[in-house]
Amino acid sequence: MQEITGLAPIRERIAHAAREAGRPEGAVTLVAVSKMFDNKAIRPVIAAGQRVFGENRVQEAHAKWPPLLEEFRDIELHLIGPLQSNKAKIAVALFDWIETVDRDRIARALAGEIASQGRSPGLMVQVNTGEEPQKAGVLPKDADEFLDRCRGELALDIKGLMCIPPAGEEPSLHFALLERIARRNGLDLLSMGMSADFEKAIHFGATHVRVGTAIFGPRG
Ligand SMILES: *Cc1c(COP(=O)(O)O)cnc(C)c1O
Repeated sequence: MQEITGLAPIRERIAHAAREAGRPEGAVTLVAVSKMFDNKAIRPVIAAGQRVFGENRVQEAHAKWPPLLEEFRDIELHLIGPLQSNKAKIAVALFDWIETVDRDRIARALAGEIASQGRSPGLMVQVNTGEEPQKAGVLPKDADEFLDRCRGELALDIKGLMCIPPAGEEPSLHFALLERIARRNGLDLLSMGMSADFEKAIHFGATHVRVGTAIFGPRG
């Protein structure tokens, strides 16, 4: 069988970066980003032992993941793309983690679905660290208040923060900013770093790195 998954070298690089940063083994979870890849491409990665996957579209994930989740009960699925409140129901039913909570409407919709479905995905708040107008995420200056509202009024158990630094910018400042916001709000998890910069993110404390291309190859 030919080499069909880039998983092993990525795992090795993650372990190495964690060691270099003086972080304990297992401190970093690899989220394999399978967006735009079909089940034929995903299966070999599952077969190679990967169990944590990320998708950026609710509809796409809903179309392809249920049979795989049925077959492999220990898979953990992360939503890493924007969520509309009319998709909150599917999202809460399908995902184990929702990393992109970023406004009151979504937070409210999730709180409602969590209560009615009795299912509680892990939650992270997305921060728009680069303050890009086209990008999702709460602004850094609004993050503390938003977190207070989510955790207080809505009783959402937010576990961490997620960011996507601006393309073409040095990501380190964004990783450092996200880490500061998490620390001052007592949050343990940091989802940051993608194929091009996950080692740097690990240096800045990433607990979750989201890697697509480096595992699956270029997206069509
Ligand atoms: C696509 C995507 C990734 C993975 O990007 P790669 O450069 O392919 O590793 C990570 N995070 C989010 C939010 C994405 O949409």
